[in-house]
Amino acid sequence: MPLDNLRGLYQQVILERYKKPRNFGRVNPVHRHQRGHNPSCGDTIDLTLQLDPNQERIVDIKFEGEGCAIAMASADLMADAVRGRTIPEALQLVERFQTMMRGGEEFPREYRSLNAMKGVAQFPVRIKCANLAWHALKHALQSPATDDSAEEPGFVSNESID
Ligand code: ZN
Repeated sequence: MPLDNLRGLYQQVILERYKKPRNFGRVNPVHRHQRGHNPSCGDTIDLTLQLDPNQERIVDIKFEGEGCAIAMASADLMADAVRGRTIPEALQLVERFQTMMRGGEEFPREYRSLNAMKGVAQFPVRIKCANLAWHALKHALQSPATDDSAEEPGFVSNESID
């Protein structure tokens, strides 16, 4: 794993989030439920979202899953960044994150914690790990409402994306 090559501060943030995620778990009630899988590394994520009554804003978001430090840290940072945001705002953040992973600009001050993931862009094989949660979020927000009792969440594999 090339984590050793990431800049010190970023490496530290990623490892801290991996060891002590702040957003691990499941929201209640569940309005969107999305599973994601990254076959290239074996990362899985189970993302649940609670929306406001108008279905316009993310009230709460949590994740469960297993995977490498990069996948889990990215999910945890993402949850902090999109909680309280409208759906269009969250989708914009997805786009922006994916752009950063392709070597694009960093996030502005308001979202600067996400810049901890920027170093991953140097390691093409790890980019799918970083993008997994974001890819799942995008699908969750674009899919119809989940019945709280539904046993079958949406499922997405990021095998085909970069
Ligand atoms: Zn991974």
